[in-house]
Amino acid sequence: MQKVLFLVLAAVLTVTCLQAQPAVPEFAPLPYAFDALEPYIDAKTVEIHYGRHHRAYYDNLLKLASNTTFFERSLQEAFAEIASWPEALRNNAGGHFNHDLFWRVMAPKAGGEPQGKLAEKINATFENFAKFKEEFKKAASGRFGSGWAWLCVDTDGSLFITSTANQDNPLMNVGNRKGTPILCLDVWEHAYYLKYQNQRGNYIDAFWNVVNWPEVASRLDQALAAK
Ligand code: MN
Repeated sequence: MQKVLFLVLAAVLTVTCLQAQPAVPEFAPLPYAFDALEPYIDAKTVEIHYGRHHRAYYDNLLKLASNTTFFERSLQEAFAEIASWPEALRNNAGGHFNHDLFWRVMAPKAGGEPQGKLAEKINATFENFAKFKEEFKKAASGRFGSGWAWLCVDTDGSLFITSTANQDNPLMNVGNRKGTPILCLDVWEHAYYLKYQNQRGNYIDAFWNVVNWPEVASRLDQALAAK
């Protein structure tokens, strides 16, 4: 009898712990060396951008979310209701998520053109790859001040380009066009100023040489599967 009681108690405790398990995001290692994106994105910029800017968003997010119920949902779920959370949480949660995606959609010896379904969808929406890049550049260079440019999957599975201010992203319920982001470009000055100074356009042009298209394609597949 005691053994049965113990097992029941253990099971209840396990379930309770699992339910309360906060979905604290991890500060993932950079998937390549600081100098791996040279000469397009310089080593010093990557080192400071990842190690200090991204790290600060992450540390602040953990601090701000502690003693709240914020991590009882995934970041993606939290973004869908972010308007009801304090602005500092919105900024730092966005800052962490956006940079984590940014590092992953770039890679050394990457670039070129997308293939397969992703290429078909880009051509269907933007006519061709060159026109897609033009549209994306317009969004990235037209973002006044600090923010991001995005390629997103819409609810009907089609693609669209958008841009957001500060550390907002298209998953947030803050008035942006909502969608699932599969490619992003950071256009804060800290992302390019050391190498490109005020020439944001040159930074955007260089970005195409490091885009990790297989990763973007796999994120498209995931977004379509989740619909
Ligand atoms: Mn940044």
